[in-house]
Amino acid sequence: MNISELVLELSDTIPDFPKSGIVFRDLTPVFADADAFTAVIDDLAARFSGRFDAVVGVEARGFLLAAAIAYAKHVPLVAVRKAGKLPGEVLAENYALEYGTATLEIRPGQLAPGSRVLIVDDVLATGGSSSAAARLVERSGYVVAGIGLVLELDGLGGRDRLSTYDVYSIVAER
Ligand code: 5GP
Repeated sequence: MNISELVLELSDTIPDFPKSGIVFRDLTPVFADADAFTAVIDDLAARFSGRFDAVVGVEARGFLLAAAIAYAKHVPLVAVRKAGKLPGEVLAENYALEYGTATLEIRPGQLAPGSRVLIVDDVLATGGSSSAAARLVERSGYVVAGIGLVLELDGLGGRDRLSTYDVYSIVAER
């Protein structure tokens, strides 16, 4: 079984979570399987090998992936967090949700200017959070080397929204 098949086999689909009408894809069984998690980290790191010198994880499940890649490749790790969680000077980007808006923040100045940053998260849906993270990386003076995801959902426009970036997902439901 290849890594895409393994992710699909292990992942769950939960109807009406976190609210009625939403079909939630749960990747926690992938994280809970040591072989699958290791293969996911190796696959994401290999896909962007030699092209990034730092990793940004998007809260919260992106942290799990980003931390493992940073450790495996011995590169710096920066967190993009939800509003109000980071101390000191922060840059903020708003993005649209189905109802209302959300905000992601980064602490600038933690990486060398011009660093090539790999942004990672678990799932790509509308692309709102990944594109906000990309803007934060760019506003910090870094370059987006790519966006790596485990699962890309179809029909929500995520990839279109990120058309200027190198986007890779282990499983693309298209
Ligand atoms: P987007 O901003 O692309 O609409 O949504 C992606 C963000 O929301 C990611 O941070 C992801 O963790 C979370 N997300 C959205 N839909 C799902 C889903 O079905 N499953 C999981 N695990 N996360 C989701």
